[in-house]
Amino acid sequence: MPNTTILWFRRDLRLDDNPALLAALADGARVVPVYIHAPDEEAPWTAGATSHWWLHGSLLALDQALRQRGSCLWIARGDSLGELRRIAALTGATQVRWNRLYDPVTCERDTHIKQALRGDGLHCASHNAALLFEPWEIRNGSGQPYRVFTAFWRACVKQLHQLQPQPAPAALPPVHDLPASLTVADLDLLPRIAWDQGLRETWTPGETSALQQVNAFLNTQLNDYGVQRDFPAISGTSRLSAPLHFGEISPRRLLAMLRERGVDPLTDPWMRELGWREFSYHLLYHFPHTTTEPLDTRFAAFPWRTDNSAELLAAWQRGHTGIPLVDAGMRELWHTGWMHNRVRMIVASLLTKNLLLPWQAGAQWFWDTLVDADLACNTAGWQWTAGCGADAAPYFRVFNPVLQGERFDPDGNYIRRWCPELARLPKAYLHQPWTAPASILTAAGIRLGSTYPAPLVDLAASRQQALAAWERIKITPK
Ligand code: FAD
Repeated sequence: MPNTTILWFRRDLRLDDNPALLAALADGARVVPVYIHAPDEEAPWTAGATSHWWLHGSLLALDQALRQRGSCLWIARGDSLGELRRIAALTGATQVRWNRLYDPVTCERDTHIKQALRGDGLHCASHNAALLFEPWEIRNGSGQPYRVFTAFWRACVKQLHQLQPQPAPAALPPVHDLPASLTVADLDLLPRIAWDQGLRETWTPGETSALQQVNAFLNTQLNDYGVQRDFPAISGTSRLSAPLHFGEISPRRLLAMLRERGVDPLTDPWMRELGWREFSYHLLYHFPHTTTEPLDTRFAAFPWRTDNSAELLAAWQRGHTGIPLVDAGMRELWHTGWMHNRVRMIVASLLTKNLLLPWQAGAQWFWDTLVDADLACNTAGWQWTAGCGADAAPYFRVFNPVLQGERFDPDGNYIRRWCPELARLPKAYLHQPWTAPASILTAAGIRLGSTYPAPLVDLAASRQQALAAWERIKITPK
């Protein structure tokens, strides 16, 4: 039996710059690429239906890329440890390798699996494919994890020069003598009711498509990113969050591609956003309780709304708040599984500050509906906006969706696209239809409360209410 290594794919669904794959090839003659679908092991953060949709496409693409190089993906379902043991017995494997995950649930599972397989006499090793730096490598002067982004990123950029991606192998050893595995279709990842048209129209999962997307972004949008990234009607950002989440593209590869184009990653604003991703993983790893609890412990006593909350949450989820920019964002999310970053901040601020609904409820909805749902980035994004996270926007900074709309969607193109019932409203009223005279509403074919909702809250009064709620917890010692 040739020396065999099991390569356990998880959220590293690529061949380029894949350290576990390269180490497996260096181990010896045969590599068995395996994917085990075990959603129960990720509970309570089992991926939502939108993430599963993406996963389906990404696994198909990975299998195809493996086949093009002479290998294939061996697919199983259920208990990961049991399946790894079964495959090891079938193949006579002596090694198991994988790339690390950093969320608390899978970290604990992986530690357990590593110990158990080592107990069976297998050599096990894990690698870093997802991040520029391991969360434990970056520490402040007193050896503690960072809580402030700027200082964290300053520490990271000093070390960026060390990082180099490794290319994908041109060929892989064949795995033709294995018994037939499940297929991607057997995993039942696609919706039974066809609600996924918007996803199909918007995305093509997989490594090849991710690479094309990066090239297109770097060639045409990177130069203007610093200016255009805040305008949701413009395609001014990379839309690489889902490929990054599923590991279809490596952050080290992105860094190298910037360098190849002569861009200085130390000062590049887009690279800095990748820095926020790193920081989010740093926080999740060091403060794992923050998936459900505020990092700023004062917020544990925050007086969230208890009355009417289910109705308000449902209106927010459906994009029926009566506040156009918020509704446009929530509908973009529902249709495409993605929402522009600025709009994410605005809808999150409305939920947590104007509606006084807990950030965890919003984070859960995003988790279920985003193609890029990522425990690190989602938790950090929600805690930041709610004002209870690291480096948080101060609680008293409440986004005003009308002013934000006038500034970042000045022509109303984003609102008109996602809220077509408002399309005929003149620009002057588009961001606050409730201020339009009756004659203008009638001329635009709008009946507030009927064809488009009246606003769910008074923005000014609810802002004051939020500030008063904050005053009540502010004095509690940290
Ligand atoms: P670009 O602007 O092109 O940025 C490049 C990459 O940098 C992104 O793909 C992403 O990986 C990373 N990045 C950018 N902004 C941030 C940020 N603020 N925090 C962390 N990483 C960032 N991002 C997710 O990937 N998954 C989530 O579940 C998620 N939930 C969020 C929830 C809220 C309330 C907020 C405010 C933000 C959230 N973000 C999340 C961060 C950000 O909105 C998305 O990463 C970004 O909109 C993705 O679009 P893009 O790929 O075009 O980004």
